[in-house]
Amino acid sequence: MGDLICRYEQVKLRIKKAVDQVAGRQRPLLLAVSKKHGLDKIQQLVAAGQQDFGESYVQEGIAKIGQLQDLALIWHFIGPIQSNKAKQIAAHFAWVHSVDRLKVLKLLNQHRPNTAAPLNVLLQIKIGDEANKSGASYAEVMQLAAQAQQLEAINLRGLMCIPPASDDFEVQCQYLQQAKDVFDELAAKYPSVDTLSMGMSGDLAAAIHTGTTLVRVGTDIFGARELD
Ligand SMILES: *Cc1c(COP(=O)(O)O)cnc(C)c1O
Repeated sequence: MGDLICRYEQVKLRIKKAVDQVAGRQRPLLLAVSKKHGLDKIQQLVAAGQQDFGESYVQEGIAKIGQLQDLALIWHFIGPIQSNKAKQIAAHFAWVHSVDRLKVLKLLNQHRPNTAAPLNVLLQIKIGDEANKSGASYAEVMQLAAQAQQLEAINLRGLMCIPPASDDFEVQCQYLQQAKDVFDELAAKYPSVDTLSMGMSGDLAAAIHTGTTLVRVGTDIFGARELD
């Protein structure tokens, strides 16, 4: 077994262990964050059973989607969205995790091709007070969620967050719980909401402890990023 598949299996094992520590916990979906990694690694992971991949850069992501279109993969856009890129994102990706303003939500709706299923959208909520992080406030998330109901080509699926980095499990859980509370409120209000995207290489166990439904893992699967 190569290094890549070995690391992949280890990540899956870590997820399983964290899930087993909480009675009744469902296993979260594992999103393999493939940004800055080549096609060969993605293909190896596909052969090992991985189907969902996350990309943060529009051009790089679209190139991979084109080259791997025969594999029936599910592509998630997880990076910051410039409004002039919304059209391309809406045309090529199945999921977008990083919607934090109305202008972008409307552009994604407007440019989603008629022939495609509605775009699965997660609203990015800002957790903690770091000024330079993207993400919407609680009040903005509630407004965006209400707006999303009016948009035919948008399927509101839930919430995403990138909390401030911390090595302390308890501190990680405190931040993650803030997003979980908002997620629960949205899910109670909107039947389509079923996905909470939180947990990365550094806070995987805390996110599962808190009740995430989707974890985004790059480095711990692929190793250090290498393209460009
Ligand atoms: C790059 C990225 C990840 C993966 O991060 P790692 O630390 O490499 O696991 C997860 N989520 C988002 C939004 C990212 O941009």
